[in-house]
Amino acid sequence: MSADLYFDSSMAGQTDDLQYSVNYADAARHIKNFLEKNTYKLLEAAAEQTARSILQNYSLVDHVRVEIKKPWAPILLPIDTVSVRIERSWHRVYVGLGSNMGNKKENLERALEKIRADETCRLISCSDFIATKPVGFLDQDDFLNAAAEVRTLKTPGEFLSLIQDIETDLGRVRTIHWGPRTIDVDILFYDSFIMHTETLTIPHPEMQSRLFVLEPLAQIAPDVVHPVLKQTVRELYEIAQKPPAVSG
Ligand code: ATP
Ligand code: CA
Ligand code: CA
Repeated sequence: MSADLYFDSSMAGQTDDLQYSVNYADAARHIKNFLEKNTYKLLEAAAEQTARSILQNYSLVDHVRVEIKKPWAPILLPIDTVSVRIERSWHRVYVGLGSNMGNKKENLERALEKIRADETCRLISCSDFIATKPVGFLDQDDFLNAAAEVRTLKTPGEFLSLIQDIETDLGRVRTIHWGPRTIDVDILFYDSFIMHTETLTIPHPEMQSRLFVLEPLAQIAPDVVHPVLKQTVRELYEIAQKPPAVSG
């Protein structure tokens, strides 16, 4: 078994202060204890859970590579060992939240609390809650919107499942598209990933035209660059605020 732990060592380098470093003897003991306490049938599961445990317990470590080897079963092939090697990281996700039914403030708070409670997520920051007028389907109550920064060990698909579970738990019923909802949580950015599948488009395809997304997001992530449009959130927010040019 071997593990490579990656973290930003610049503070440790500049200050020579232990609190900015990872104690590798301690980490090695942690991994040994973890694998003694937990048994897995598959090497894949042992590697996955070990990587997760390191990332969850050593807050400075943002990326880990784990390799677990075992002796190859005695069949008549010249192979000594078989191994599984994986790399796992914390990912940075920005979410947009909106509510326009019931106690809107409480709905946003409960959604954020559920993200915080997930052991594979950390809530890093949240914008103010901003009151906005409905867009699209206008005959409905005003919204309360927010944006939040989350670090997660989940893949984009796993993160989508989490926010959909949260929406269901908070009583969201899907009726009118863009209609009233107790809570809506959208993935705006996931690292600088660009992806488009039937169920998930990242970055969120409408974010650059929505002030109710850009205003709260600009509070917490003004300098984050949109990986497709190559503009910062601050720039996108400024552009979206300008009235459209009239030609002719
Ligand atoms: P909009 O996506 O225009 O803001 P909406 O939030 O009201 O509209 P929903 O009914 O909440 O739309 O979601 C419809 C589907 O959108 C979801 O089932 C999900 O699979 C898909 N989806 C695609 N990209 C994303 C994303 N980045 N974040 C959240 N859901 C997404
Ligand atoms: Ca939405
Ligand atoms: Ca949504």
